[in-house]
Amino acid sequence: MSLLFSFQDLNAVFEKLTRQYRIMAPIRIVGGGRFSDDDSIQYGEVTKIEEVVWDEKSHFSPKEVIAPITQTLFHISNDQLITSTIDRRKILLFMRPCDIHGMSRLDDMFMKNGDNEDFYYKRLRDRVKVVMFECDSGWDNCFCVSMKTNKTEDYDVAVRFSENDISMKFQNEELEAQFAEHGQPSEFEPNFVEENSFTVDLPAETSGLAPQQIRDKIIGHQLFDEYDRRCVECGRCTTSCPTCSCYTVHDVKYSENAKVGERQRVWSSCIVPGFSDMAGGHSYRNRKSERLRYRLLHKMVDHNERFGHHMCVGCGRCDDRCPQYISFSNMVMKTTAALTEVEHA
Ligand code: SF4
Ligand code: SF4
Repeated sequence: MSLLFSFQDLNAVFEKLTRQYRIMAPIRIVGGGRFSDDDSIQYGEVTKIEEVVWDEKSHFSPKEVIAPITQTLFHISNDQLITSTIDRRKILLFMRPCDIHGMSRLDDMFMKNGDNEDFYYKRLRDRVKVVMFECDSGWDNCFCVSMKTNKTEDYDVAVRFSENDISMKFQNEELEAQFAEHGQPSEFEPNFVEENSFTVDLPAETSGLAPQQIRDKIIGHQLFDEYDRRCVECGRCTTSCPTCSCYTVHDVKYSENAKVGERQRVWSSCIVPGFSDMAGGHSYRNRKSERLRYRLLHKMVDHNERFGHHMCVGCGRCDDRCPQYISFSNMVMKTTAALTEVEHA
C-alpha cells in the first residue's frame, strides 16, 4: 500500500513512533565539515521529518548506526564482566539503495564470516527496519549501476520526498498500521537510478580472470606506486565507506579505580600505518601503495570470491572524501586496464 503525507501528519506519526523506534536519518551538522564553513551530513536521531537531509548524499554512511564508531562491549568491575546495554527501541533507518546493499556486506562480515555471529552487531542489526530513500539520479561520483546496487526490494518502507509532502510505499504491515490513519491513498512506486554519469569496468568481469590470477598479476604492479606519494594515510576513504568494517579493541581503565573499566571497539582502517602489525613487531604492507592495493582487491575481488557479491557498492563516498583527490573508481579502472592490456612477446 502507498500513502501520501503532509509534513505535519508525518510528524504526528513520528511523535507516536519514537516511543518504540529510534528514527535515524542523515542530518546536517552545521559547521561540522572539512573546512570551517562546511557542514557535515551524517547519521543522527530525528524527531521531525524536516530534520532529514534527503536531497544531498550523506558524507558518512548508515553503518555508524549498526556498527558505532566507538562501542562499549562490556564493563569490567573487579573480577566481573558485565555486558553493555543498548537502547531497547527498534531502529527506523533511512537509507539509499546502495547503502542497503552496503548493510548486507556488513552482515557478511559480522554475521556470516566464520562460525560465530557478532553479538554486538547482531543486537543492533536485528532492530533495524529500513526506510529506503527513492534515489533516481545519484551524484557525480556514484557508480552504483556498475556495481548492480542501484536497485533493491529489500526495504520495509520506500519514501519519496518533495518540498511539500512525502509519499511512502509500505512492505511491512506493522509499520503500515502505525502510519495508515494519517495518510491519503497514493499510487507511489519508487524509481531507481538507471544510469550514472560514468561506468566502471570491473576487474574480474572485464578481464575474465579468476581471483588468484588477478592477485598474481596485480600484487606488486607499478600502477599503485603513485599512491606512495599521494596518499596521506588519513583513512577518510574507509571511515566514509558503508562497507569497511576494520576495528581495533582496547580496554579503558577508569582513573579512580584501575580494576574498573570497559572494553571498547573503535573503528580503524587498513589504510592507516600499523593496522596490520603483529605481535613480535612484524608488519605487513608497509607502503601506502600496498595498503590501497589491498583495499581494492578486498572490495573488488576477494569479498566476491567468498560471498558472491562485491564488497564495494559504488556509493562514491571515498572519492568524495579523499583530501588528495585519489579516486577509487579510477584506481579500479586502471587495475582493469592493467589486467586486460595485451602482453607483447
Ligand atoms: S582518503 Fe585519500 S589520502 Fe586519506 S587514506 Fe584514503 S586514499 Fe589516502
Ligand atoms: S569503496 Fe568507496 S565507492 Fe565503494 S562502497 Fe566504499 S566508499 Fe563507496
